[in-house]
Amino acid sequence: MSMTDWRPARVLAVAEASPSARVLRLDVPGWPGSAAGQHIDVRLTAEDGYQAVRSYSLASYGSASALEIAVDEIPDGEVSPYLVRDVLPGDELEVKGPLGGYFVWHSADAGPVQLIAGGSGIVPLVAIARAARHAGAAASARLLYSVRSPTDAIYREELARSANDGGVPVTWAYTRAAPAGWPGRLGRVDDESLRAAVWPATEQPVVYVCGPTGFVEHVADALVRLGHDPQRVRTERFGGS
Ligand SMILES: Cc1cc2nc3c(=O)[nH]c(=O)nc-3n(C[C@H](O)[C@H](O)[C@H](O)COP(=O)(O)OP(=O)(O)OC[C@H]3O[C@@H](n4cnc5c(N)ncnc54)[C@H](O)[C@@H]3O)c2cc1C
Repeated sequence: MSMTDWRPARVLAVAEASPSARVLRLDVPGWPGSAAGQHIDVRLTAEDGYQAVRSYSLASYGSASALEIAVDEIPDGEVSPYLVRDVLPGDELEVKGPLGGYFVWHSADAGPVQLIAGGSGIVPLVAIARAARHAGAAASARLLYSVRSPTDAIYREELARSANDGGVPVTWAYTRAAPAGWPGRLGRVDDESLRAAVWPATEQPVVYVCGPTGFVEHVADALVRLGHDPQRVRTERFGGS
């Protein structure tokens, strides 16, 4: 089997991750392993043979045959409501991958790493944060996570513990509602909040930006305005506006 073949995947477990998102663990026999930041394609086949394919980033990395994805429901979407509401342990799907060779981090990559996520864009950045921690590189990495509100954050508990736990330090940005007593400003990430939270351009970080297409483009433009080398800004667009 190669990366271009569809492989059977069995759902091992599902867990609520936010009011609109679920973490799914998939058993994929013979999985060849993946680098932190890669994704898979998931194919669903209905009883009448109709098929739908969507991409999902892996929160897992390495060689274990249990893969982890997290899916946020897009209202009126075709595939995500099924994965978030209906799929059950024991169900069968198909996956193809690992896919993507650019939006990845390897432990041999030296130097500061800046992770910037909007919404479900956190998923591949969790894989990179986990890998950086495992490689002893968490101190040279930072994560900025923009979410609507605290309960919308996927991997909230893992990220809230992260810095005190030897993991990557996390700065939160809230667009609609913040925890009580939170000192920051509500709203979109802007030049000022990026300047405050992100490794400065002079440190020449490699920056990974992931989320809805509009978020990624807005942040990538702002990073270039702040002097970051566009060649060191890696982006993954999840779609939407
Ligand atoms: C490389 C890659 C990795 C991805 N990883 C993840 C992941 O880890 N978790 C995850 O939840 N999603 C991820 N996505 C998005 C995912 O592939 C689907 O697009 C998403 O689940 C919506 O599919 P759907 O069938 O429910 O919606 P569709 O029926 O395809 O679309 C319904 C409507 O929603 C809009 N829309 C589609 N995607 C988005 C979006 N992301 N945000 C806002 N509006 C959107 C469409 O433009 C359309 O108008 C990834 C996408 C890519 C390209």
